[in-house]
Amino acid sequence: MMSLTKLLLLVICGFVVWKLFAGDKRWKQSKEQEKKEDLVASGEMVKDPVCGAYVSKSNDIRVRQGDVVLNFCSYDCREKYLKRLEGQNSGQNGGGQA
Ligand SMILES: [Zn+2]
Repeated sequence: MMSLTKLLLLVICGFVVWKLFAGDKRWKQSKEQEKKEDLVASGEMVKDPVCGAYVSKSNDIRVRQGDVVLNFCSYDCREKYLKRLEGQNSGQNGGGQA
């Protein structure tokens, strides 16, 4: 009888600890997201237009388009963006799109 109560207590304790840990993790994640949004709002971080990742504005991988400077997380993303841009331009010259 005594061991069953102990076991039950152990399970409850484990559950509580797990709950606390899970809650803390979620809180940290939302806190991190807030931090990112703060940096975005203050203009220190910008969104990679290709994959949506947040990149620092001091990052070297960028493309200037008139007054706008776009930052990318990787050269891969920059290539993708430039290719897409080329596709748009040729589409305009070609005329009708389906
Ligand atoms: Zn990217």
